[in-house]
Amino acid sequence: MTEKHNITKPPHVLLFPYPSQGHINPIIQFGKRLLSKGVKPTLVTTIYQFNSTLPHNTTTNPIEIKAISDGFDEGGYSSAQSAESYLKTFKETGSKSLADLIKNLQNEGNKIDAIIYDSMIIWALDVAKEFGINAGSFFTQACGVNSIYYHVHKGLISLPLGENAPVLVPGLPQLERWETPSFVRDHGAYPGWSQTVFSQFVNIDEARWVFTTSFYQLEKEVIEWMRKMWNLKVIGPTIPSMYLDKRIKDDKDYGFSLFKANQDECINWLNDKPKKSVVYLSFGSSAKLRPEQMEEIAWGLSNSNVNFLWVIRAKEEDKLPKDFVDILKTEKGLVVPWCTQLDVLAHESVGCFVTHCGFNSTIEALSIGVPVVAMPQWTDQITNAKCLDEIWGVGVRVKADENGIVRRGNLVSCIKKIMEEEIGVVARKNAAKWRELAKVAVNEGGSSDKDIEEFVSELKHAC
Ligand code: UDP
Repeated sequence: MTEKHNITKPPHVLLFPYPSQGHINPIIQFGKRLLSKGVKPTLVTTIYQFNSTLPHNTTTNPIEIKAISDGFDEGGYSSAQSAESYLKTFKETGSKSLADLIKNLQNEGNKIDAIIYDSMIIWALDVAKEFGINAGSFFTQACGVNSIYYHVHKGLISLPLGENAPVLVPGLPQLERWETPSFVRDHGAYPGWSQTVFSQFVNIDEARWVFTTSFYQLEKEVIEWMRKMWNLKVIGPTIPSMYLDKRIKDDKDYGFSLFKANQDECINWLNDKPKKSVVYLSFGSSAKLRPEQMEEIAWGLSNSNVNFLWVIRAKEEDKLPKDFVDILKTEKGLVVPWCTQLDVLAHESVGCFVTHCGFNSTIEALSIGVPVVAMPQWTDQITNAKCLDEIWGVGVRVKADENGIVRRGNLVSCIKKIMEEEIGVVARKNAAKWRELAKVAVNEGGSSDKDIEEFVSELKHAC
């Protein structure tokens, strides 16, 4: 590269998320932060997702998007026979297609200075190496959870766990077996995913950077432990700036949605409700609840007499009990297939978030300052729920029965605790405290801002 190129062209990074909403959102936000600091990001998505997303909103997402093939151009993940077959094909087809994209960009004169790839796509590092490009592994789950996976990978936690054997790793209190991520707790039940999360560390030492979407104050101890091993950049919360430091104008939304939100309907409905009177329920972009569980939630809400806004994705809708439709006609409840979650959480009518505890939803609740009822379904959500309840103190965990179903009475009693009792007052106070710390982290000179600045400076030096 000539000196002239150095002066005239901003550094260029490829951002390569695992293709699901929960992995795309945080890396897009990182891209927007980089853009605001003079770096050119390009988001790499799959052909299926590129074609199935709504017209891209260039105001809320000004990042250029390129598409590669994951081998499932027509139907994406849901058209694969199994998680294992998707992941295998994604690796085989995706690594060739990513290499082709890099060649094309380079041929057009677009030098690539770094590839930031999702920590679950470890083969992207091999592709980067092939081209002599620096690479960084981007973790979208809590550091505490990743620490558990690291210990499993290193053989420091052996699986299967003993029936009553607690798990102890740096930065987390002792976890009972039932509180560990499902890939650890239910050894062997999800071979493709377990292999993926434990393998995140296979080649991590070759990555120039390791990123986490957490923030320093939230997971200090485990972050310090990770810093000893890698060039760690702690860059979260990765949520649109207008909800935190407001330094990136127009950044009100992630801007790349795989689902169509009924936003006006939600906000109009919320506008008519008293302050803090609404329970918002969402189980994220991929959890599949059992019909029995949907029924328990539905009748729990009906019995509880609270206002509720419940996101039920279109594919899940037929699990809703038919009589429940009558309740929807009473103004007490609204069910939508998708909403702009941050906008809903930030609405003054929302008093409680019943969440599946995906790490984005977790960090969004903390960043907006909304207390939660934690109702995890699987994967890291189970451990996030413990943190929300016992470490971060922003809510309660609702107990499931021996069949894994949360019964209506338990759900109602947890909602009441948050909406009406002292425990809810304390949770709300703690949530407000986390909100302030989250804002400080990303604001000028905050811990995450500093790490992003440091990355940009290292990037400029390296190119
Ligand atoms: N989300 C949204 N609207 C909804 C439900 C979810 O915008 O109706 C967003 C939410 O704000 C979060 C993401 O989808 O950023 C879900 O990520 P999370 O890690 O919480 O769960 P996952 O979908 O990965 O299970």
